[in-house]
Amino acid sequence: MNEDPVDALVATAPDGIDFDGLTVEAGSDGYAFETPDNAASGLDEAALREAAVEDPQVGNWYFWHAVAPQVDARWAFLRWLEDAEELALPERYDALESGLTTEWGQLRITVSLDGHAGRSYDLRHVDDETPATELTAHEDPLDARDIAKHDDDGDYRPLKTAPSLQTGWQFPDLGAADIVEAVHAFYPATVQNWHREREGELDIDHWHETVSRQTGIYGVVRTWDRGEGYEHVNWVAEACCDDSECLKRREWQYDEETQLDVGGGDGEFPCREPCSLVIAAARQWTKLEGEQAQTYEFELTPSEKEQVEEIIDAVADGRVDDIREADVYDGANRYRTRFLRAKLFDDDENLAGVETDDYTG
Ligand code: SF4
Repeated sequence: MNEDPVDALVATAPDGIDFDGLTVEAGSDGYAFETPDNAASGLDEAALREAAVEDPQVGNWYFWHAVAPQVDARWAFLRWLEDAEELALPERYDALESGLTTEWGQLRITVSLDGHAGRSYDLRHVDDETPATELTAHEDPLDARDIAKHDDDGDYRPLKTAPSLQTGWQFPDLGAADIVEAVHAFYPATVQNWHREREGELDIDHWHETVSRQTGIYGVVRTWDRGEGYEHVNWVAEACCDDSECLKRREWQYDEETQLDVGGGDGEFPCREPCSLVIAAARQWTKLEGEQAQTYEFELTPSEKEQVEEIIDAVADGRVDDIREADVYDGANRYRTRFLRAKLFDDDENLAGVETDDYTG
């Protein structure tokens, strides 16, 4: 499309325009040009140019037809960022003057006007309330790939949608194509799947189908799925797909007819199939759950039993690092736990001196 908004409008006017409150129609007596603030008819080309120049409606039309990526999912995502389907243009432009902010997982995206035919996108972590000068600025949207690799402790993030995105960075001025590229680098395929879901076209691969097609080293998970009901899948979903572990909203179920009993979460973007991390974990659970249950007898005080439960809870909720050393009231406190180990483990680290049965088959 022509690089000047008014030239582009004049070139398109013979075909007519009807977008976001701007209409241009070609008639036998010339052009009719109408916006919420302006209406004129019988215009020749020069008069049409005069009406269009500097009109924010024309800048807006140009942005959405010549600047924003003309790919359905990307275009819809950019519209969603500025609530374009709900806010009429004058209202939207007022909001864009100071910046419209939306969250996408742990990303905070603020869109503001850049001239009257452009947008600028600021991208940062939702938890970064600090002044921009304290954040590391990036220009290349693909830098997001490196940022997404590790959490704030420098640990590798195997699941890109885990709520462990590191803080301290900012993309202060991305264009329309680059903001979508950066979001894609942080959270691959989330924009596409979100769009498919909105269009009623999200194709979901449920647990049973996904597990049934596993081969090679993952083929073993098929055996766990045989004649077990689906309670084990509830446990998998509760362990891995909870909002505390993953920002996607799980849409897959056991199969088309069988809903899981645990909720899928509240994430903005859907999860359409069990991911590789879940399948890898399920492989290990398949092996562990293949063992026969045994009866063990331990002597614990009531408080020790509760302490074991508190330790399991603290580890499962990722709370261990938050428990202060001085907080000996918390059962998962390090000193409390070391005391329990000193008291209950024998020299071979058997709980209460009770040996573990041979489970190696
Ligand atoms: S399967 Fe679960 S953990 Fe994996 S991406 Fe989907 S919702 Fe997240």
